Amino acid sequence: VDPPASVVHVFGRALATAPERTALAYFDGSLTYRETDSLSDSVAGHLAARGIGRGDRVALMLQNTPHFVLALLGAWKAGAVVVPVNPMYTAGEVGHVFADAGVSALVCSDRAWEKYLRGAAAGTSVTTVLTTCERDLQTRDDSRVLGFERLPRPEDTEDLLAVARAGDRAPEGRTPGPDDIALISYTSGTSGTPKGATNTHFNIAYNAERQRTGAGIAEGACYYALAPLFHITGMVCQLVACLANAGTLALTYRFEAGTVLDAFAEHRPAYTVGPSTAFMALAAHPDATRDHFSSFQMISSGGAPLPPALVEKFRAGFGPYLHNGYGLTECTAPCASVPPGREAPVDPVSGTLAVGAPGPDTVVRIVDDHGQDVPIGEQGEIAVSGPQVVPGYWRRPEATAEGFPGGELRTGDIGFMDRAGWLYVVDRKKDMINASGFKVWPREVEDVLYGHPAVREVAVVGVPDEYRGETVKAYVSLRGEEPVDAAELTAYCKERLAAYKYPRQIEILPELPKTTSGKILRRELRSLK
Ligand code: ATP
Repeated sequence: VDPPASVVHVFGRALATAPERTALAYFDGSLTYRETDSLSDSVAGHLAARGIGRGDRVALMLQNTPHFVLALLGAWKAGAVVVPVNPMYTAGEVGHVFADAGVSALVCSDRAWEKYLRGAAAGTSVTTVLTTCERDLQTRDDSRVLGFERLPRPEDTEDLLAVARAGDRAPEGRTPGPDDIALISYTSGTSGTPKGATNTHFNIAYNAERQRTGAGIAEGACYYALAPLFHITGMVCQLVACLANAGTLALTYRFEAGTVLDAFAEHRPAYTVGPSTAFMALAAHPDATRDHFSSFQMISSGGAPLPPALVEKFRAGFGPYLHNGYGLTECTAPCASVPPGREAPVDPVSGTLAVGAPGPDTVVRIVDDHGQDVPIGEQGEIAVSGPQVVPGYWRRPEATAEGFPGGELRTGDIGFMDRAGWLYVVDRKKDMINASGFKVWPREVEDVLYGHPAVREVAVVGVPDEYRGETVKAYVSLRGEEPVDAAELTAYCKERLAAYKYPRQIEILPELPKTTSGKILRRELRSLK
């Protein structure tokens, strides 16, 4: 795999290949590669005129819209580092990111600016603010997605679209090189205060190029952005991989199952990737048919555990096989995946579905607490080295030294490797439940509950228990068709799990809390108890 020098070069190659091809399709609007190029050039020129130079940080806080892509490419063409920020972050979380990253410019929606970002940016290093009219981000009256009132334009910001259409030229000599930081990606925070992983242009261009050469998607095909672009999976496996393939990226603001199905029918995408919770929601939607999925050459599920029962339900109901993939922000999305045309085995002992096999140039080791390899089949911490592993955390030498000893990423995930080279993720090291001294991995219990037809989503956590120290508790949301109570679910688990593993407590909730990238937040459930 020999990637272009930077993501700007990846874009430039697509532009040269197919200037008049649609690069971005958004509801009933679209932009060609040529248009995307000149609009993002103008953003770059404007940022440069505002004094944003090489290495300066530009925070980008938008949902999946063409505006996101124009601002991203514009910032990169100006030589800046982009800090994608989850638009659902609260003022406190955003304030942390602005201060930690030392952000100079911010791109966000007018609504978010008025509501709380003006306050969060006050007194920080943010000097330039570009906003987009949130109402205009909806180009079709689709009340399922939006329905915002038009706001008066904030006087203390500039209009991103006006800036993009001003026809400014990109500054000369700012094109990034492979070792320049492209993104400071704050981990989505399922485990505590977000830290910024520094994804270089090489990290991203490499993983996108690997996907282009490995996934076998036809050049120019349509990718659908199911995962949010502000999350590393969406950014790399959808946006940059699509650019690497000179394809068309279809976007629909944010995940809403009905809107996604309509987009599948309209754009007939060949590839998408999302968290398993997105596929559960699509599969549960009353309008979903096999036809919606018939255009796909490949669908990947990544970034969160994929229960084997979901893979089977999905295939039986809709046709496609969900290809599992494993990665972290710190390794720029995937480091192991299930290649096209292959199926991941299920471990006969634990019932866990393999997450895939390590990609080319990537070494995955299973290590003990001293960093020594454990024998094949035994559990240990997953450690990764390869071209997609970031050099470290932004301005955190200690966390970098601890998380990347000798440049190798210690993932904090417990896993094992089988003889054939398939990697299995057991669970997060810190999520282990200690029930009377027995280790219980929440994932195993969750996988069992996913096998029950009435279960939509499940998260298992340890709760304090007077006799056992900790005991297993499951939070469940239901599909709705068949009524079922906690006692029946307990009986179902008891039949399938050892006595110390089955959940002593089951609570049924209408919805489980999730990050906006779709991961179930065990941390939040733990604090419910
Ligand atoms: P944190 O904030 O704790 O770092 P995060 O979920 O915000 O967590 P990400 O980098 O987005 O951070 O997610 C990486 C984690 O997601 C992995 O460490 C692993 O636990 C989990 N994960 C990713 N892919 C899979 C998969 N296919 N199967 C199981 N778990 C997965």
